[in-house]
Amino acid sequence: MGKNMDANDVVLEVEHLTKHYPIKKGLFGKSDTCVHAVEDVSFEVHRGETFAIVGESGCGKSTTGKCILRLTEPTSGTVMLDGKDFTSLKGDDLVEARKKLKLIFQDPYSSLNPRMTVADIIAEPIDIAKTYATRAERDARVDQIMQAVGLDLSYRARYPHEFSGGQRQRIGIARAIVLEPEVVICDEPVSALDVSVQAKVINLLEKLQDDMGISFIFISHDLSVVKHIADNVMVMYLGHMMERASDEELFSNPAHPYTQALLDVIPRIRRERIRDKTILQGDVPSPTNPPSGCCFHTRCTKCMRVCGERVPEAHEIAPGHLCACHLYDESLTDEERTPAVEVPLDAEIPQA
Ligand code: SF4
Repeated sequence: MGKNMDANDVVLEVEHLTKHYPIKKGLFGKSDTCVHAVEDVSFEVHRGETFAIVGESGCGKSTTGKCILRLTEPTSGTVMLDGKDFTSLKGDDLVEARKKLKLIFQDPYSSLNPRMTVADIIAEPIDIAKTYATRAERDARVDQIMQAVGLDLSYRARYPHEFSGGQRQRIGIARAIVLEPEVVICDEPVSALDVSVQAKVINLLEKLQDDMGISFIFISHDLSVVKHIADNVMVMYLGHMMERASDEELFSNPAHPYTQALLDVIPRIRRERIRDKTILQGDVPSPTNPPSGCCFHTRCTKCMRVCGERVPEAHEIAPGHLCACHLYDESLTDEERTPAVEVPLDAEIPQA
């Protein structure tokens, strides 16, 4: 967790971010449907904070990261970086702002150019940004960053294939931080690594955050890793924000049935809250045809009549704790609160 997190200093603000991918069909490539990858997601990241985005595969967490970086343009919504609208920047302004926003990739094996030496890979961002006056200055900066991420200086002239997964991820981290960015988006940065190596990389990220005050957006499907590293957590499902809270609040008092189900499959966390265990059943529906109302209602054990009809708003159920679920809507009628009737899959359908 960020020791130097400043709760009054917002470095990145995401407002109503939405991303739809049109699906082209037919002879003339006419688009009549789309993938609802991200739907109206909002959150803010403070200086020195680790903000985690969690959820199952396909929940929209990586697309959210790509939209923030503008690796893919959002359909709507804004991203404010240091008070400026990053989504509308163009040309030199965009190039300049991109120095403050960097990415660490999931796969350290494919994210490094195999034909470049370690020193050239790390120096690439400062070569493009031309932040040095002499070759000696460039080399000194590379050495400084290599030492900061725990890479031996004797590795300068070596190539990526000569390194283990953990070391390659250190090279990727060095490349991401060489320009001293304000925010680094870490997209599943440890999921391709062995568990013992994962801990070392997580410890390195924490140390760099303490030393340099970087804010991280940590994208992960692994709640036990998130519990260790995050200050604040947002849970996503089918492109929607389900719940958002501080790390401590979310893990001790999960409110959304989806979050509860995710936590219940982690043995160490499950034992603490075994009494109201929730089991997640079925598959994630298709994002091209998401369920009506609450997008989780097809898998929710607490589904009520209203859930299939109306999209739930985000309710603030404790200070800073948001939950998008009708269970916390005090304005519902008794009729709307009636449990939804479940039809067993093997039930016989009466003939007319
Ligand atoms: Fe379950 Fe309804 Fe809450 Fe959705 S809104 S999580 S279906 S109770």
